[in-house]
Amino acid sequence: MPVLATFGPYPRSVPSSTMMGTMRTLISNGTVVTGSIAAEADVVIDGEKIVGVVAPGSAEGDFGRVIDATGRYVIPGGVDMHTHMELPVSGTSSSDTYETGTRAAAIGGTTTIVDYAGQTRGDTLEDGLAEWMARAQGNSFIDYGFHMMVTDVHEGTLSEFSEMMRAGVTTFKLFTAYPGVNLSDDRQILEAMQVAASIGATIMMHAENGIAIDLLRDEAIARGEVDPIYHLLTRPASMEAEAVHRVVALAEIAGCPLVIVHISSQDAFAEAVVARDRGLPVFAETCPQYLWLAQEDVPEGFEGAKFVCSPPLRRRGEGHQAALWSGISTGRVDAVATDHCPFTWEQKEAGRGDFRKIPNGLGVVEHRVDLVYQGVVEGWIPLTRWIDVIAETPAKISGLYPKKGTIAPGSDADVVVYNPAQSHVLSAETHHMNLDYSVFEGAEIGGTVETVLSRGDVIVDHSEFVGEPGRGRYLARGTNALVPEAVDR
Ligand SMILES: [Zn+2]
Repeated sequence: MPVLATFGPYPRSVPSSTMMGTMRTLISNGTVVTGSIAAEADVVIDGEKIVGVVAPGSAEGDFGRVIDATGRYVIPGGVDMHTHMELPVSGTSSSDTYETGTRAAAIGGTTTIVDYAGQTRGDTLEDGLAEWMARAQGNSFIDYGFHMMVTDVHEGTLSEFSEMMRAGVTTFKLFTAYPGVNLSDDRQILEAMQVAASIGATIMMHAENGIAIDLLRDEAIARGEVDPIYHLLTRPASMEAEAVHRVVALAEIAGCPLVIVHISSQDAFAEAVVARDRGLPVFAETCPQYLWLAQEDVPEGFEGAKFVCSPPLRRRGEGHQAALWSGISTGRVDAVATDHCPFTWEQKEAGRGDFRKIPNGLGVVEHRVDLVYQGVVEGWIPLTRWIDVIAETPAKISGLYPKKGTIAPGSDADVVVYNPAQSHVLSAETHHMNLDYSVFEGAEIGGTVETVLSRGDVIVDHSEFVGEPGRGRYLARGTNALVPEAVDR
C-alpha cells in the first residue's frame, strides 16, 4: 500500500453544533473550485478541518465566523512543492527566511510549501534534515515539508533513504547540473534511483547537462562575454532536453518514479511527455517564470542579473510557453511550483563582471496562484486546471493529499477566497518577499487573494497578513499517490 498522509476520518454528516472549544466557520455563497469541479457551495469548517461542502444556504447551526464569498472563488490553499527559503549558496543565503518567505506565500494564497533540505557534501542526510528543520521550526507561518537534495551519493547516503522516509521525507532530488557542487554522475543517479524504487520514494531531478554547459560558460567568459545574458545563452534548451531524456532512461531501468522539476523549454517538456505517453511514472513541473517571462524581457547590461535562474528563460516565439500552457490544459504538466530562491540586488552584484558568479534564482512564491490564474483570464487554461496544478496534483505527488490540496470533508481547512473582480498589479513596492525588485514588475493580474485560512485560522484578511508567528507545522509526508503500486514482472 502507498503510505497515505495522516488523515482523520470523514464525518458521517455535517456536525451542526460546535465541538468543544473549536471555532466553526462558514464560507458562504462562493463558487468552490477544486481540481475537478467548479460549483456553487458553502464550506463548513470546524476547528482545523473542513467538515462539510454543502448546497448554498443549507448549512445549519451556529457559526463563530461567517465569510461572505459572493462573487468569489473558494479554492484550496496553494501547495508550492518547490521552494528554497534561506538556502545557503556560495557564502550567502537566499534572501527570504522561513518567516518572510512563508508570509509572502500566504498573502499570495499558498498555505503549504515543500522546501528543499540539503545534504552538505561530506555530511549525512540526517545532518541536512536536522539543519533545515531547525531553520523552519517556529518560524514558518504555514505548514511545510521537505524534499532532500542529495549531493553526495554513496553507500552511506543511500542507506539513509529509508530513515528519511520514516521522517516523512519521501522525495529525493538529484542534479545533472552544477559539476563539483551538486552534480551526480549517471552511475550515482542510477544507484539512487534503484534504492528509491525499492522503498517507494520518488526522485526529483534538476535536468540540464551541467558538464557540457560548464564548457560553454567558460568559453563565453574567455571571449569576454561576461554579462548576465550569456548565462541564458550558454544553457541551451537542447542541453535540458538531453538531460531529461537520459534521466528518464535511467529511471526506466530502475523502475523509479521521477519528477522533472522546473521544466523551462518545449524541448525538455516533449521528452517528459514522450516518457509519460509510454506509460512511465514521469511527472512534469514547471514554474510561472517559464510561463510568462522570456529572454526578451531581460534588460541589457548587468541589470539582467535579476532574471538569472537555471534553467534559464527561453526565447519568445519558439513555442515554449504555448507548449507549457497547453500541457497544463491537457494534464501533461502536473504541477506549477516556483523554485522560489530570491537574491537581493546586492547579492546579485557578486556576479558583476562574471555571469558565472551571479546567484541563481528568482522571487516568485507570492505570485504563483495569481500568475497561473492569469492563464485562466487570458484563455490558456480552464478554472479547474488552475487548481489542479497549483494545489491538488502537487499535494498528490508530495504525499499530502487529501489532507492538503482540495476542499473536501476531512481535509485541512486551508482555504483561499479569491476575488476575480478585483485586479491588481505586481510590484516590488507592494510585494512582501524580502526582495528589492520584481521580475514581474508592472504585470497586471485579473484577480486578487482576499482571505486565506490555514488549518481554520484566518491568516490573511482583506489581503492583509494577520497570522501568528511560528504557527506552521512540519508535515511528515506520505509517498507519491500517483505512482502505481503494482509492478509488471
Ligand atoms: Zn530548485
